[in-house]
Amino acid sequence: MKCAPFEYVRPTSVDEVLAALVAADGEGKILAGGQSLVPVMALRMARPAVIVDINRVEGLAAVERDGDTVHVGALVRHRTLAEQSAHPLLAEAARHIGHAAIRTRGTAGGSIAHADPAAELPVVAVATGATVTAAGARGDRWVAADDLFAGPLMTTLDADEMITGLDVPVPTRWGFAGFARRHGDFALVTVVVAEVRGQVRIAVGGVGAVPLRARAAEAAIGEPVERVAQLVGDELNPTGDLHGSAEFRRGVAVEMARRALASAGI
Ligand code: FAD
Repeated sequence: MKCAPFEYVRPTSVDEVLAALVAADGEGKILAGGQSLVPVMALRMARPAVIVDINRVEGLAAVERDGDTVHVGALVRHRTLAEQSAHPLLAEAARHIGHAAIRTRGTAGGSIAHADPAAELPVVAVATGATVTAAGARGDRWVAADDLFAGPLMTTLDADEMITGLDVPVPTRWGFAGFARRHGDFALVTVVVAEVRGQVRIAVGGVGAVPLRARAAEAAIGEPVERVAQLVGDELNPTGDLHGSAEFRRGVAVEMARRALASAGI
């Protein structure tokens, strides 16, 4: 199918992006890598009246370490994230995203804004306690990843706000484990364990509407890994679909949790 007709604008500054979104009055959509937006437009599941292409906005493509945090600009491509060494957990997560072509175009800001419950970067954002910077007509605001994801493909951001970057704490210990049926597919389940500022956080993707914190398991850190991993599974309430039953997903989550905890050395 072809996309419905739309107006196309290509601003060169964040202020111009925001002005275009306000002028579109809720009918505008930001275009970053286009790897999620274009397919949903082609299927006519989205029919934005105005496409605001942010690829010419400068200053949004850097990965920079600042103390114990790494700042990732909204336009950093998954491929760049996979190749950088400032944040090894982000690099590992980015290597699991789709195929090379998708990693070459897809962006960190786009993945966070798209809020696919099975996507890798939102799980890392929740596990590390990352903060997203959202620019809007009323100024910038900073949203904790725990408060950002509202449901499948939904965030708490307004339609006229733009993610300009995210600040991701660098964990002292971490583990990443994901299971996909085929190489390049979205993972059925992803578990990320991150020790940040002395606290171990566990986040699970693919088993709920948003990336979930496994808080009972976090509270049991120090007990045997098998017990903590089992608690991750016990906390979940997965639903089945054509990719796997609810019980299969729960079992995969327990095993992914065991692997992520073990690789974190926790
Ligand atoms: P776009 O497609 O340009 O935009 C997506 C949405 O985010 C749109 O609603 C857009 O308006 C909004 N948006 C984009 N940037 C911003 C911003 N800065 N501020 C506010 N809103 C913004 N992802 C995974 O995580 N794991 C996978 O395994 C995976 N596999 C894939 C396989 C295929 C075949 C395809 C096509 C995609 C896959 N993806 C996967 C998705 C991919 O990671 C996308 O790159 C990502 O979801 C969206 O990033 P994007 O830059 O392409 O955003």
